[in-house]
Amino acid sequence: MGTVALQEHAPDPALAAAAGVIGPNALIQVAAALKDSHGPAEAAAVFARAGLSRFLDQPPETMVDERFVTALHATLRARLGVAEARAVADDAGVRTAGYLLAHRIPSAAQRVLGVLPPVLAARMLMGSIGAHAWTFAGGGAFTYRADRPVVFSVEGCPLCRDAHAAPGAVLCDYYAGTFRHLFRTLVTPRARVAQTACQAAGAAACTFTITW
Ligand SMILES: [Zn+2]
Repeated sequence: MGTVALQEHAPDPALAAAAGVIGPNALIQVAAALKDSHGPAEAAAVFARAGLSRFLDQPPETMVDERFVTALHATLRARLGVAEARAVADDAGVRTAGYLLAHRIPSAAQRVLGVLPPVLAARMLMGSIGAHAWTFAGGGAFTYRADRPVVFSVEGCPLCRDAHAAPGAVLCDYYAGTFRHLFRTLVTPRARVAQTACQAAGAAACTFTITW
């Protein structure tokens, strides 16, 4: 049984992690979600305030500096408020998963996952995601336990870096949306993703639980 190939844009994972870069969907899909929910003018204003206008005019085709992703999420929260920023980030995550399903996860692998019991499909999917964590975690450290429930963490999370949230609050819906859509499509439609801890609220890592 093969592994699920999730290909992204930079060839060298070690180099990518060292440089702190992230796949371009982290910017592109936030732009798309923001345009749909708040209109092109607000999207332009957010990207301008974050110093990222050039990426709105010309979507990036290669890995981007993770500091741009951090700045974009901080600006989203500052302009829209936390609740709306979280909704936009979640939608951007869903769109990123849609991109991966359409372009990066081969249909043969998707069929294999579709016939496996959910626990085994989850294990296989998490193995592949773990191997490609450098495409979304930047300089952060991704760890996971592919059991039931699935638990994963990003230590040094680029989404909420330098942010401060109330105790118990969470901010990292971009990951939650991405994993939820991938799991509902490839593992079980009953999958639910909850962020249980966030560095912005003082946790050691941003942690998520996937149940079904
Ligand atoms: Zn977080």
